[in-house]
Amino acid sequence: MEESARESRVLQAIDKLHGLIIPKCKIKGCENGFIRDAAKVNLDGLLHPTSHKCECFQTYERYKSYLISNIPREFWKVKDEQITTDPDSDRRISIYLEKLTQAFENGIGLLFLGSDEGMLHPNNGVGKTLLGTKILEHAIASDYSAHYITMHSYFNLVYRSKDDADTYLPVIDEIEGVDFLCIDEVGKINDTDYVKNKFEDMIRYRSQQMLTNIIITNMNTKELTDMFGYSIMDIIMNSSVAIKLRGNSHRQQKFVDIRKRLNWGL
Ligand SMILES: [Zn+2]
Repeated sequence: MEESARESRVLQAIDKLHGLIIPKCKIKGCENGFIRDAAKVNLDGLLHPTSHKCECFQTYERYKSYLISNIPREFWKVKDEQITTDPDSDRRISIYLEKLTQAFENGIGLLFLGSDEGMLHPNNGVGKTLLGTKILEHAIASDYSAHYITMHSYFNLVYRSKDDADTYLPVIDEIEGVDFLCIDEVGKINDTDYVKNKFEDMIRYRSQQMLTNIIITNMNTKELTDMFGYSIMDIIMNSSVAIKLRGNSHRQQKFVDIRKRLNWGL
């Protein structure tokens, strides 16, 4: 039930997005997101009007795919160059993005470990999330399917599917089947075998299908192994490049806060 509510929320948000972007376009010749090309007379002697997508329509389409992939809206406008970590991690992340197709073909994901403290973003705790979503955005730009979910939300879906399989299983299947899945806030869970088994099934299934995971956690590998067991960790470690981020306050200053750039003097 709730998921069909989510679906209609997404559809409404897409409508709203269209209204926010397309009518406000200032680009010359833009009519409802399209620009008419110079008229050409074809061989048949008739006029065949054609048009191409305006920039505004391309932006709309990009944001629409972010909505569908559940990418938090606060990150949509953050540009890659606004994101820095430590030099070694920066280098490794940019290599990963350059080799995204190969990474996907081999099912190689990323595992972001450690604390968010003092890095990337002035708001505590979103640094790694921002990185994870940027990787999804690159994947989407390369026409891969992607989804962002916190472990907590994933487990909520799993619990609900116990009572209402017809509604929730298709949703879970869709999420588990995307090319790039970013699972955020992987951490301590109340120790129930049901949830752990489900998580293990998901990781195992995605590994067998060679689908790519971007896993984000504040834990270290030992804590993860203690939490989820050796067998899942073995799969995760064999299909991910682990990146332990070491941020510092110097880098934090390089981040341009979009809210500050609005410059309202508030
Ligand atoms: Zn336009």
